[in-house]
Amino acid sequence: MADFLHSFWQMRLEHCAEALSENNFSVYIADSPSQAGEIFKGQIFTEMKISSASWGDSLSLKATAILDFLRATPDLHFIDTFEPGIEREESMERRRRALLADLFLTGSNAVTEDGCLVNLDMVGNRVGGLTFGPHHVVVVIGRNKIVENVEAAVERIRRLAAPLNAIRHEGWKMPCVKTSFCMDCKSPQRICNTWTITQKSYPKGRIKVILVNEDLGL
Ligand code: SF4
Repeated sequence: MADFLHSFWQMRLEHCAEALSENNFSVYIADSPSQAGEIFKGQIFTEMKISSASWGDSLSLKATAILDFLRATPDLHFIDTFEPGIEREESMERRRRALLADLFLTGSNAVTEDGCLVNLDMVGNRVGGLTFGPHHVVVVIGRNKIVENVEAAVERIRRLAAPLNAIRHEGWKMPCVKTSFCMDCKSPQRICNTWTITQKSYPKGRIKVILVNEDLGL
C-alpha cells in the first residue's frame, strides 16, 4: 500500500516538477521532510552566497529542520520572524526586515499541475517575500498541495487551508473557526486578505521549489 501510494505521488510530483521547470522555477523532489532538509543543505545552500535569511510562517518548512540549520549557521544573520515570546510589534518589524534578506523561505497553499504557486495571506509578508525583495526564495511543498489548476487552488484554499489555518491559531474568533466553512467574513482578524498567483519565477531560478512525497502543512 505504502509503495503504491509513493509511486503514484512520485509520478505526480515529477509531472508537477516538469511544469514548474518550464515556468523557470528550480525544482527538487524529496521523499520526506528530512530529505528536503538534506537537499537544501547539500544542493541549494552551498551554491548561494548569502549573509542573511528569514522566513514566512509555514508548517511544511518547519517539518524539514531547515530553520534550525540556518539558526545554527555561523556568520549568517537569521531574522527569526516568529521567535516564540517576542512582542507583536517586534514580530512585525522583523517581517518587514525579512523582505530585504538575501534568502527567504516559506511554503505554498497550493501548486498547480501546470506549474503555478497560489497563495492567500493575512499580513502579506509571506507573499511579499515570495514576490520581490530577497535574492533567493525556497518554497517547501507537500504532495497534498498539488491541484489541477488555479481554479482548483482557490477552491482548496477557501474550503480547506484558510479555515484550518484559522482554527490552528488559539483564541481566534472568525466565523470559520466555529463552522469550519469560509463565510467570507468581515472579521478584524480575517486571515484572507491578499491572493497571489506566481505564474513564473523571475528571474529564472530565483524561486527554488522542493516538492516532498508526503502530506505536509494545511
Ligand atoms: S474569509 Fe474569514 S471566514 Fe473565510 S476563511 Fe478567511 S478568516 Fe475564515
